[in-house]
Amino acid sequence: MSYPNGSVSRRTLLLGAAAVGGGALAVGGAARPAHAKDPAVRRVGCFDVIALRDAAGPFFLTSDAAFIGASGNDWRAARRIDPAAFGPDGTWQLDFRCYAIRRPGDRYTLVDTGVGPEGSPASSWAPVPGALPRLLADAGIDVRRVDTVVLTHLHEDHAGWAVTAAGVPMFPNARYVVQQRELDVLEAGGSQMLGYVVRPLRAAGQLHPVDGAVVLNGDAARDGRHNAARRGAAGRRGGRVRVVPTPGHTPGHQSVVVEGGRHDQVVVTGDVLVHAVQIADPDVAYRYEADQDLARSTRRRLLAAARRDRALLATAHLNRPFVALD
Ligand SMILES: [Zn+2]
Repeated sequence: MSYPNGSVSRRTLLLGAAAVGGGALAVGGAARPAHAKDPAVRRVGCFDVIALRDAAGPFFLTSDAAFIGASGNDWRAARRIDPAAFGPDGTWQLDFRCYAIRRPGDRYTLVDTGVGPEGSPASSWAPVPGALPRLLADAGIDVRRVDTVVLTHLHEDHAGWAVTAAGVPMFPNARYVVQQRELDVLEAGGSQMLGYVVRPLRAAGQLHPVDGAVVLNGDAARDGRHNAARRGAAGRRGGRVRVVPTPGHTPGHQSVVVEGGRHDQVVVTGDVLVHAVQIADPDVAYRYEADQDLARSTRRRLLAAARRDRALLATAHLNRPFVALD
């Protein structure tokens, strides 16, 4: 997601604020109620991937205006995947979601930090305040146990709770993982996100720029070959969490792959796709992609890999936390 500076009616955008935080979450511990149609927690290897809906509401453009090149068939397919995205009068209804990855030892990797508090940079167009602090508490996640925060990119609706209202990191013990390329482009462009997020994180010594694909959390280094062999197939509790560059939406965009093993994977996409219509047809462009051609090829590549690996997609903006591809 991104937005055109200053051209948005805040009144219109806040219509969805009442839906913030909704009751659909079932994030207490690792338990997954058997009756839940679409549980907000998925187990992958030794990890729990916990969906946290920071906010929800209508976008400031209709679906037709926000997406370019979608056919009638594409929209019909999108409606089957994510019916709740289709609001009255052509409005696009979307969630603003983060994901916490619970790792062994009650440690956490958080992917994205939502729209943020009242007055955050996203507040000119997104429903604020977001609910993330309360959702983390409800899920039993102590912010001090979050040791890794991945910012898929530095748009306002993905880094809102990275810092507190006082301008200090919300997660005092975390390294904040951002692609160096994202920082370079931001510095060159003079974005307000520099002052809001980048400088405070850098001042605290918590900004952790990376270049390309990096394994963030994994069992290989810690357990060594001996334990990896001893775990065996039946007790496969290993896995790893890694970032992969997925440029296009922004130049330094990255996604997170949570791997338990073959055919046991969740891909936290970030904004590689922001609407189900881009699953229906990966060539459909989103109006605010920095480089639409690059975004298309990244999307095709990510979706093909997810189909091959039977991965679940964990998206920021669809109205359900996990999506399996056909
Ligand atoms: Zn977004």
